[in-house]
Amino acid sequence: MKKMQTQVLTIFMILFIIFGSCVVFFSTQLMQSYANENQKEDLLEQSKLVLSNINSLAKDEATFSTLKEEALKVKEYTNQRITLIDLNGTVVYDSKITNLTPLENHSNRKEIQAILKGEPQGTDSRTSKSTKKTLYYVAQPVLSQSGQLIGVLRLAKPLAEMNQLNDQMMQSIVAFIFLALLLTAGITFLVAKYIAKPIEEVMDVAKKLSDNHYEARFSGNGYGEITKLGQTINELAESLDDQMQEITQNKERINELINHLVIGVMQLDEHRNIQIVNPAMCQIFDMDSSKLIGKSYAEATKSYGLSYLIEKAYRKKERQNKEIYFYFPSERIVDANIVPIAGKTREDTNLIVLLYDITEIRRLEKVRTDFVTNASHELRTPITALKGFSETLLDGAMEDKAILKQFLEIMLEESTRLNLLVNDILELSKLEQRQVPISFEEVVVKDAVLSTFKLINQKAKQKEITMHLFEEDCVKIDGDRNRLKQVLANLIDNAVIYTKPGGVINVIVKKSESQAIITISDNGMGIPEDEIDRVFERFYRVDKGRSRNSGGTGLGLSIVKYLVENFNGTITVKSKVGLGTTFTLMFPLRHV
Ligand code: ADP
Repeated sequence: MKKMQTQVLTIFMILFIIFGSCVVFFSTQLMQSYANENQKEDLLEQSKLVLSNINSLAKDEATFSTLKEEALKVKEYTNQRITLIDLNGTVVYDSKITNLTPLENHSNRKEIQAILKGEPQGTDSRTSKSTKKTLYYVAQPVLSQSGQLIGVLRLAKPLAEMNQLNDQMMQSIVAFIFLALLLTAGITFLVAKYIAKPIEEVMDVAKKLSDNHYEARFSGNGYGEITKLGQTINELAESLDDQMQEITQNKERINELINHLVIGVMQLDEHRNIQIVNPAMCQIFDMDSSKLIGKSYAEATKSYGLSYLIEKAYRKKERQNKEIYFYFPSERIVDANIVPIAGKTREDTNLIVLLYDITEIRRLEKVRTDFVTNASHELRTPITALKGFSETLLDGAMEDKAILKQFLEIMLEESTRLNLLVNDILELSKLEQRQVPISFEEVVVKDAVLSTFKLINQKAKQKEITMHLFEEDCVKIDGDRNRLKQVLANLIDNAVIYTKPGGVINVIVKKSESQAIITISDNGMGIPEDEIDRVFERFYRVDKGRSRNSGGTGLGLSIVKYLVENFNGTITVKSKVGLGTTFTLMFPLRHV
């Protein structure tokens, strides 16, 4: 504030001094010349007055010397120095000098010469040798009665006397200006302070705003336009504050959105370095964001396909889209979209890289396609059989009653299979679409096992297979009783099918701290190790011929897996070829 105040004060003072000096200079010049003129006029008038008195006395040249006496008389008309000079230039009288002898001849004096030349008057100003003062001289011709020039009357006045008035005026003006200067300086100081303070405050607020301190406000103590300026700054600050809050909120929202996107997002700058990266992208590259930000994309991607696409986008400045295979860190299929955006300058190109992991989608698509292929294949077998046998019968085989019976039995068997197959396919698709109503109720696992035993008892007896239930505790779960029985029936039925006659099936029901554990073990043929993981796949059969003959559709375990997962449970399998197979089910225990 001091700085501005001092500046205003200094500038104003300098201007005032320049202006004041000009006024003093020109006014003194003007006044001096005016006063001098007046003084000269006055001296001239006085000389005329003296002359008229002298002239009235002067009779002829001979009497000029007598004029001295008269001159003494006329001296009272003026208090100026009076000199009488004759036509030879000799001073005959001087009111200020008594001894005229050393006076030199005055005929060469400018004012005297003017009169001698016949001019009506003569004037000059110079330093007098006799009085050593600078004087102003006025000379008048002294004429005789006949109009003859008989001498010269000269009046002289010291210039110092003439300028005395000017000096006084000058002193007054200087004093006045000095006082005015002091007064103006005081007023300017106060005004500067009064104006500078609010301006300084406005500047301070503007500075804070530029430093991102949007809470800064002008206090409102100002004057006229400055108050308006302060109010405008406040409105600007208000608007900036609102905008900044909106920007911050939007930024937070965008960050939130990007961070929760399942699509991998990263931004590359014009130097091909990563500026922004979201967690989904970090997961794709299996790297921490701190290791990615600021690094070149090539270090992170390690994919030729993606690098090629990114470079193409930089080069062509056009959006690129392609399905890319990643082999590192794990095998993945991603749908890559690369969008060029403007960088800091017009020439710079930044890129937004969007990677959508479609590995699972592609896998599911494959599963679905495989399912359709497998289902068609499975359906074709019984349909072909039905068609073939009915055609053969129509072609005449029906005449032979034995063949007719045999064929009809096969056709019944095939249509039953077909029915089973269609039912399983429908069941599976309903489960997939979550259309199967599942109730959650208290299920006593032991009861479910025993009622399943009843269903399968007949089949087991036929193969002389014995079934045992071991229950360590009373185990209860939350689930759908019928669906649990469906699961158990499938697993126990499989155990009966894939176990040789005389085999044993053990069902053990126990519980851990939070889980119900049901194991169904048989001592049957077992499953080869490399095929164990595939038994839950649709239509997967270890021994195709045997499974089909036993009426299996290859969908049973797929349905079981779906149902178990719907109860928040898990199913695992352990098996050894020739020794047997154990399926383990785990469900959360019922909360009492
Ligand atoms: P399927 O209707 O053919 O039995 P599943 O889906 O129920 O179809 O079973 C898939 C395959 O798993 C069966 O074909 C069979 O080869 C094998 N499997 C299932 N349970 C057992 C078991 N207890 N012992 C040996 N193999 C089994």
